[in-house]
Parts: sequence; structure tokens; C-alpha cells
Amino acid sequence: MTDVPPVCPLPGSPTHIELGHGGGGRMTRRLIEDVFWPVLGEPPGAARHDGAVVTAGAGRPVLTTDAFVVRPLFFPGGDIGRLAVFGTVNDLAMCGAVPHHLTASFILEEGFELEELRRVLRSMRQAADEVGVAIVAGDTKVVERGHGDRLFIAMSGLGWVADGVEIGPARVAPGDVLIVSGDIGRHGIAILAVRENLALSGDIRSDCGELVSSVNALLRAGVDVHCLRDLTRGGLATALWEIARDGAIDLSLDEQRIPVSPGVRGAAELFGFEPASLPCEGRLVAFVPERDAARTLEILASAAPDAVPVAAGAARGRVVERPGRVLLRTAFGTERELEPPFGELLPRIC
Ligand code: MG
Repeated sequence: MTDVPPVCPLPGSPTHIELGHGGGGRMTRRLIEDVFWPVLGEPPGAARHDGAVVTAGAGRPVLTTDAFVVRPLFFPGGDIGRLAVFGTVNDLAMCGAVPHHLTASFILEEGFELEELRRVLRSMRQAADEVGVAIVAGDTKVVERGHGDRLFIAMSGLGWVADGVEIGPARVAPGDVLIVSGDIGRHGIAILAVRENLALSGDIRSDCGELVSSVNALLRAGVDVHCLRDLTRGGLATALWEIARDGAIDLSLDEQRIPVSPGVRGAAELFGFEPASLPCEGRLVAFVPERDAARTLEILASAAPDAVPVAAGAARGRVVERPGRVLLRTAFGTERELEPPFGELLPRIC
């Protein structure tokens, strides 16, 4: 008599996201226990609750939130996981806060490969470890095939800003020096190159990276930082335009001093993009009083050696009668107003 195979074989472990993973029942629990916890860390028994009780830091709490829908999920120089962690902690750092805790919501599309999800989670964990933050709470939802695009992540971050640290557009003063922490536009061009299957000279990698150590170093050194802004989807142009308007101040930049790598410049020319409007994910602009400018350049160069900071311009003067302008001095000695892009330059970039 031969062995009779089981009539109803137990299914093996799933390799892809199924609708049942979003049901909130056993499958959801197994997804969390088998995929999320082994990478992100298992909360202690007492902490398995509807929220995470965290310890307060020193100073005042700062909260931020962001969603990440980048396509493709993996790109030269980064991936959606790294982008999510760094994007969130960078926003906290721009307020002068030390990031402590993150939460993450995952919108998963039916059919998304679990191995890809594990890759993203490993990347998030590594990024969180690099900046010393903990991912303390999370959620997963599943949407039907065709109703998402594999994976979207929403993140919130909690950090603490020391008493006495006040960083924001209102503090930008005439005479402030405006320092860009490195070459701009690499994230946008790296994503564009992958999507369009372009072979660009110079193998452009995203600048996706953390800015926490740069800001910490500036504050530790006692630099009187007036304003910080990370350059993201609207690039340098949007960041400056917002600060000029919100601070009611005119800003003036030397076009030739804005750092753009030859590869990014070439691609921007090819597609007709203004380099200053190209997305970045690991660059900042700092406004500091002139007496602190040299020290700021030095500190930024040692905190992020792959970036070459430049003093690109200066805050020119208060405007009271209308919102501030960003003026670009061209190589020909003329001046033009730098405006942010009107709509979407590149969709799904972060
Ligand atoms: Mg920001």
C-alpha cells in the first residue's frame, strides 16, 4: 500500500500579501509576528497595546508626519524605507529637534512580495539605527490588487527641541548668509533615470540621507541657526520661496554658486528643468548670521563629507508691503526672480 497524500495539504507560508493579511485576524497577526517584528523589533509583552508610551526628552516636543509613495520602491542611492525614516527625522531636525520616536503605517497592495517588504523593513531598521531613533508603533492595511502600487508608507515622528533653540522663517534677518549643504537635484534625476531607463553620464545616485547629525553638530557648536529647511520635492527654489514669503524677506543668490553636479546639470538641460526646482532628499539650506557662516560651512563639510556646502547667497531685506522674493543673479550680471514650480514636476518622487 502506498502512502496516501494528504487530501487537503496545509498551505505553505505565503510569499505575497493576500487580502486576508489586512483582516485584523490571525493572518494579520502572523504577518506582524513573522515579517515585521523580526526586523523592526518585537515590543515587550507589556507594551503590546494600542499605543506606545514613551519617555519624554529634554525641552519641548515636536511632532511631524509625512507619507511616502515613491516609484520605484528601490532606486540608486536609496529606497522607500530609507526615504521614509530620513524624510521624517529630517523634518524634526529642521525644527532643531533631536528625533526620538517614529510610527509607521503600511498600505500594502494585494500581491506585493513579502521578500520585498522584508527588504524595505531591513532598510528602515538600518536607517533608524543610524540616527538613533526607535520605530515604536505601526499599522498595516491591505488594498485589493490594482487599488494601490505595491507599498505606501505613512510615518510620524516625535522629537524634542531644547529650550532656547528657536529656528524658523521669522528669525531670518537681513544680512543672514544662506548656505546650501551640498549639490542639489540628484534625487530627482536618479528617479527619473530609472523610470525612463536613461543611461546618464556620471551614474547619478539619489542624495537620500539624514540631516540630523549636521544639525546636531551646528547646535552643539553654538552656531546661532536662524532657519533651516530640508530640500525635498520642490527643491531649493520652493524652500527659499516659502521662507522668503513666510519671513517676509527678499533673498538674493548667485546662480553660479548653487552647487549642481555636471551630470544633474546635463540631465536638467535635456529635460528643460530648472536645477533649483529639482527634488533632493538629503540636502538643507541654513540661514546663519554672517559671523557664523565660515564655521557653518566647516561643520557641514565634516558632518556630510559627500556634500560640499556653499554660501549661495544672502537675505537682503525685509519687505512689508508684499510677500518676499527670491532673486537669482545670473552669470551675465542680470537678475531674475526664481519661482517654485507651479504644479508637479515629477510625480511620485518621495
Ligand atoms: Mg521638510
